[in-house]
Amino acid sequence: MATELTFDPVRLPPECVALRKEVRAFLAKEMEAGTLNANIGGGIDGAFSEEFSRKVGAKGWIGMTWPKKYGGRERSFLERFVVTEEFRVANAPVRLHFVADRQSGPVILKYGSERVKADILPRICKGEVCFAIGMSEPNSGSDLFAAKTKATKTKGGWLINGTKIWTSSAHHAHYLIGLFRTSPPSKENRRHGLTQFVVDMKTPGIQVNPVYQMTGQHDFNEVVFQDAFMPDDHVLGEVDGAWKQATSELAYERSGPERFLETFYVLTDLVRVLGEKPDTRGAEGIGRLVAQVHSLRRMSVSVAGMLHAGKEPVVEAAIVKDVGTIWEQKLPHKARDLAAFVEEGSANRATFEQQMTYATMIAPKLTIQGGTTEILRGIIARGLGLR
Ligand SMILES: Cc1cc2nc3c(=O)[nH]c(=O)nc-3n(C[C@H](O)[C@H](O)[C@H](O)COP(=O)(O)OP(=O)(O)OC[C@H]3O[C@@H](n4cnc5c(N)ncnc54)[C@H](O)[C@@H]3O)c2cc1C
Repeated sequence: MATELTFDPVRLPPECVALRKEVRAFLAKEMEAGTLNANIGGGIDGAFSEEFSRKVGAKGWIGMTWPKKYGGRERSFLERFVVTEEFRVANAPVRLHFVADRQSGPVILKYGSERVKADILPRICKGEVCFAIGMSEPNSGSDLFAAKTKATKTKGGWLINGTKIWTSSAHHAHYLIGLFRTSPPSKENRRHGLTQFVVDMKTPGIQVNPVYQMTGQHDFNEVVFQDAFMPDDHVLGEVDGAWKQATSELAYERSGPERFLETFYVLTDLVRVLGEKPDTRGAEGIGRLVAQVHSLRRMSVSVAGMLHAGKEPVVEAAIVKDVGTIWEQKLPHKARDLAAFVEEGSANRATFEQQMTYATMIAPKLTIQGGTTEILRGIIARGLGLR
């Protein structure tokens, strides 16, 4: 029987309006100072700035939903949504702190030892700490629970051996949250036997090898562990029970505005290039795209509202990521089509072409990172009781 699917109609409260103004004023100042350029694709994808992350930390916009005791501001997920959205649209260079803020910090908050929480969370909030996600392996991407990288118990901790792959930002990261095998899977539960650890990337026995993309960028890596020692209090949650924890982490990872705004600069540039009086086809095309992004946004705000209410909207988050990433992936193709009649040689067109080239090259990854389309649809079907 199908299960209920809910997207609560959440409206952003008045404090979000004030915060949005504040964030926009901050970004305008940074743009004026040349710290960021909203007209160039990049953002989460490319831009890493220690200076910018520290400024954002000083504003109190990292870890903003976390307890004050750990450097947080005890603000709402909806306020965090506003900050993420504004930064994403402005292509702000948030890469250093983004993963830590979105998912590593919340996981540590929920499952970390007191020593790890007190040590790492306040530094994340200051914008000083970069985290990577060590889930995928050469033979286990979608099927996370087939992970083989092993953590073997030793005196006072664990020795890690094996290889992770596609590890975004590992070459910048101070820490990584790794999913390692601590026991073989059990007959009753093939997901049993995996444990999450906070890995200090300075630990001897960790080697980071670059993997280059077709844009020429170096975003992800192979991470090789050879007898790398992790102290006992770097275990997150239950030994062998990470499968119970991973789902809530994925709800954080999959539902935010970054899941449909990664190529948003293409839409803003399309509006610019078509000018103030687009023809009927252009106007209709822009109207359609704006209506679609508006609906996606309402869904994403709804998930933020559910997270705020302490729910685990795993299925709803999967839907936002599925529909959102397909939308942002198709956006460059639709924009190219709508701008087909803009004069080839017009000065107007040069930056647009630059944006389109970049967006087209990164588009394939959008429906792979953070869970592929097929996997998301499996989750949605299961959540709805259809499989
Ligand atoms: C830009 C980018 C950044 C990334 N960053 C990170 C990171 O920081 N950390 C990290 O751990 N990983 C990262 N990844 C890896 C990403 O999570 C995996 O690529 C993804 O989960 C898919 O795994 P795979 O590449 O092994 O493909 P596979 O799992 O081998 O899948 C190949 C194809 O088979 C399909 N498929 C697989 N299983 C099923 C099934 N059961 N039913 C139907 N179809 C199926 C998939 O949908 C896909 O089309 C990143 C990936 C990208 C593109």
